[in-house]
Amino acid sequence: MPAHDVLIIGAGLAGQRAALAAAREGASVAILSKVHPVRSHSVAAAGGINAAINVADDWRSHAYDTVKGSDFLGDQDAIEIMCSEAPQEVMHLEHIGVTFHRNERGELDLRAFGGASMKRTAYVADITGQAILHVLYEQLMKHHETVDRYEEWFVTSLVQDEQGSCCGVVARDVRSGRMETFHAKNTILACGGAGQVYSPTTNALIVTGDGIAQAYRIGAPLMDMEMVQYHPTTLVENGLLITEGARGEGAVLLNSEGERFMEKYAPNKMELASRDVVSRAEQTEILEGRGVGADGSGIWLDITKVPRKRTLEALREIVNIGKDFAGVDITREPIMIRPGQHYIMGGVKTDIDGATSIEGLYAAGEVACVSVHGGNRLGANSLLDTLIFGRRAGEHAARRAQTIPMPDAADAQLREDVAMIDEIVARERGGGRRVSEIKAELGATMNEHVAVYRDEAGLKQAHEIVRRLKEEAKSAYIDDRGTVFNQDVLGAIELGYMLDCAEATVLGAIERKESRGAQFRTDYPERNDEEWLKHIDISLNGDGPQASYSPVTITQWQPEERKY
Ligand SMILES: Cc1cc2nc3c(=O)[nH]c(=O)nc-3n(C[C@H](O)[C@H](O)[C@H](O)COP(=O)(O)OP(=O)(O)OC[C@H]3O[C@@H](n4cnc5c(N)ncnc54)[C@H](O)[C@@H]3O)c2cc1C
Repeated sequence: MPAHDVLIIGAGLAGQRAALAAAREGASVAILSKVHPVRSHSVAAAGGINAAINVADDWRSHAYDTVKGSDFLGDQDAIEIMCSEAPQEVMHLEHIGVTFHRNERGELDLRAFGGASMKRTAYVADITGQAILHVLYEQLMKHHETVDRYEEWFVTSLVQDEQGSCCGVVARDVRSGRMETFHAKNTILACGGAGQVYSPTTNALIVTGDGIAQAYRIGAPLMDMEMVQYHPTTLVENGLLITEGARGEGAVLLNSEGERFMEKYAPNKMELASRDVVSRAEQTEILEGRGVGADGSGIWLDITKVPRKRTLEALREIVNIGKDFAGVDITREPIMIRPGQHYIMGGVKTDIDGATSIEGLYAAGEVACVSVHGGNRLGANSLLDTLIFGRRAGEHAARRAQTIPMPDAADAQLREDVAMIDEIVARERGGGRRVSEIKAELGATMNEHVAVYRDEAGLKQAHEIVRRLKEEAKSAYIDDRGTVFNQDVLGAIELGYMLDCAEATVLGAIERKESRGAQFRTDYPERNDEEWLKHIDISLNGDGPQASYSPVTITQWQPEERKY
């Protein structure tokens, strides 16, 4: 039976960084992922990673921009840590082999990104996530004696001992269907976000909120779940992302009247205001009849403003995306985009070392909410979040491991999960709805009612639908009854995770009766610091979800009106 000091669930940037940090502290480490590590969703990250490495910059300026971007909901102690440790982390990446773009003087080049008061985004063309992920994976190979890799293993549950501490997980080998209990002194969730709750989304099919739901089910509170980021530039056809790097390089947004409408909404930062502001501006233009395209649901993104040579060099991936997925040569004509679901600011509530309220359970990366993003994440701050808090969680967990014996988890959870999978496989075909149908209705519902603009009636309707879908999911049937690479059965389990995440998101959005960051309530259009400068925590108590509040940590920046 596998037993480790530190068991990491997820091999994206947060997971791999945590594994390397824990290994360097001398812990025995395992990293487990439902897909091959370099297929983790971090591979899609495009535009770059923020760090105040320019000599004219200062981490405090980065921190202030992040606090302001968060609409003052971010916890400032965590933001200070992230921004002050950023330069060292980016230099570390460079030293281990990430080929960041350099300027003609040979210095690390930095590009502009939304909400930033100066250029501070280091990048590798528009494949920054891929570049970092592959280098970290090489580093993991170096540590093969201390880091065991379980690739294509799917975690079904977290395991608790009698005191309620987390002492490992139950997982299924995707290749064979074999189930096993993994014992661990510490478990770090690095399972990514929950973008697939929405349709369309920029997120890959694997981003289904597994870790968020698993932690929630054993009692860990979820924080800021109502804060869901809609990215301003996603393809109208299918929701694929056109990186903010395009606007950073000089691309502009135009409505049907050819007007550069951001002048009205953010006269100083224009297209490089924070994402919540730009997405809302676009949605307003569309709702007021100035959208483009056959049904007026799009906006033009004009990248022809960027010199063609520069686009082909620094934005080459979106050149391909434009051609392959929209039939548009972005170097010669505008491309039609609109706001689309991209990121969740909320997740499993943690402290600044990634520790959750459950002893022995950590979380880092998009699965977690240490609350560095608050109500709205600044572009290029997520990669940073994954690396800084992945490392801190790995180090903390490794040190904790030195102080406790290896737990001996019983196999009750294993038996329960085997029975749960047998029950899904045995469901009568046609006895309920298909998993895919329920998922499609969930995605459409969230995109209609829990999107850029929200109101009480729409949110309540969404909640009713989510509750009905939860019932229907209990009898949702699958086609594949086999054991080898049975993605069908995993899809049914993931549906349950997504429904839990959706319910927490909707409840948080109903609860927060104000507009802040990504949550814009048309029935409460103002930010209300007096009543709502606080986090909403959603916990599973007894039978159902319950909301409670926790304070926002303010160190040096008092809330003020946000203007771009
Ligand atoms: C198109 C796109 C572009 C982006 N560009 C940028 C950018 O330029 N800059 C930036 O800062 N941010 C960017 N982001 C956001 C950023 O990429 C993500 O927030 C970040 O990479 C998440 O990393 P992670 O390590 O938390 O999770 P992920 O990379 O999503 O990894 C999750 C891991 O968990 C594993 N896992 C999940 N569930 C299970 C389970 N049940 N059992 C076992 N394993 C499991 C997966 O296999 C995977 O290994 C972008 C996002 C998208 C969608």
